[in-house]
Amino acid sequence: MEKKGEQRHGRLVVLVPCPFQGHISPMFELGTILYCRGFSITIAHTKFNFPNPANYPNFSFLPIADHLPEHDVASLDIVSLISYLNGNCEAPLLESLSQIMEKPHTKITCIIYDTLMHYSEAVANRLKLTSIILRTSSVATLIAYSKFTQLQQEGYFPLKEHLLQEMVPVLYPLRFKDLPTIDFASLESLMELTNIIIAKRSSAIIWNSMDCLEESELAQHQQQYQVPFFSIGPLYKFATASSSSIIAEDTCCITWLDRKTPNSVIYVSLGSLASMTEKELAEMAWGLANSKQPFLWVIRPNSVCGSEWIELLPKDFKEAVGERGCIVKWAPQKEVLAHPAVEGFWSHCSWNSTLESISEGVPMICRPCFGDQKVNARYVCHVWKVGLELENELEREEVTRAVRRLMVSAEGMEMRQKTIELKEKVESSMKNGGSSYNSLVK
Ligand code: UDP
Repeated sequence: MEKKGEQRHGRLVVLVPCPFQGHISPMFELGTILYCRGFSITIAHTKFNFPNPANYPNFSFLPIADHLPEHDVASLDIVSLISYLNGNCEAPLLESLSQIMEKPHTKITCIIYDTLMHYSEAVANRLKLTSIILRTSSVATLIAYSKFTQLQQEGYFPLKEHLLQEMVPVLYPLRFKDLPTIDFASLESLMELTNIIIAKRSSAIIWNSMDCLEESELAQHQQQYQVPFFSIGPLYKFATASSSSIIAEDTCCITWLDRKTPNSVIYVSLGSLASMTEKELAEMAWGLANSKQPFLWVIRPNSVCGSEWIELLPKDFKEAVGERGCIVKWAPQKEVLAHPAVEGFWSHCSWNSTLESISEGVPMICRPCFGDQKVNARYVCHVWKVGLELENELEREEVTRAVRRLMVSAEGMEMRQKTIELKEKVESSMKNGGSSYNSLVK
């Protein structure tokens, strides 16, 4: 049997993921695809959120000292955490890779890094290695960021309240309220964070997207960058049987789904980072209860402010819903979305969830929380027309109305039909001759 880390045909690829679930998953999926194509894979991973190597027998792991302030990591916002990692990880990565390269018969083919881990570009340059960027968000999000300088020069920032509902002149179909951020301290650090400038120095960019969703955005961006592009999404479909959950999946919910009527369940999950207040929890709970639809609801530990898990759920709620509701800490989401009982997905519309929902033919209720989620939600509702947006403050009657609109109305049926058509296009793009397939074998 091949030993871990042993060079397969002398081809070693180093992957540098950004250590959050929504970024780790597509990077590991890419790793699985490359492994199946004969590369050996080394994952250079921060100590922060370090995965259990025992779960990934085909990869070797290189721990990267991140020097995060241990006692208050939890209090850091994501942007600060990413800045810390970019500031702290360059030297340790350089040293670790230099040591690997000194070993006899060891040749690193390239470094593939998550776009947010742009310190890797400096390391690749120092070691004269080819660098490739993996972009784990939608192309539309990057295009939105790339127009910020222009919008600032035209005097739109700081943004006036009355403009929020207006269309952004250079970014159809986005309204100002759909921009990934409108509140930035410095345009320069925003550009650096989103890797707008550095990306032009890499050898190629891999997108977890596909022509059938973002053909014109990909073409527009290709023109801007002049760097070879490969859009090979949805990565998880090419990398079957690989799960990279940091949180343990509760598979009991699949048994619960098995007992439900086909096309009857709404699946609710806000991903790995978003949180909610006690009030929002109560409105969601009663909105779901009053919809009379069966629901599977993921509530992550510590995602409700002021509680560890579901202690703050309204007192009579569990009694009111009984067997009709199932709440878990973390679900095997892709399996859930592919389950015949699932008819709709209430999602925060981060890119992986959006791709997974479309790829499984499940229409969405979009409730974006921050960043790229707002861009994706706008595309889901306005461009692909496979979902409806739940806007404004969360309010139980609105929740009930949205759930019933999606699950049991003629409009919902139409969305379902559109999602199935889109799912078929995704499948075609993955077949021999399809756009993702062609990019993958290039
Ligand atoms: N996910 C999961 N189980 C859950 C919730 C989410 O496996 O209960 C997975 C989901 O399939 C997706 C990832 O976690 O691949 C979340 O990524 P996404 O970009 O949707 O959201 P983020 O967590 O980055 O906000």
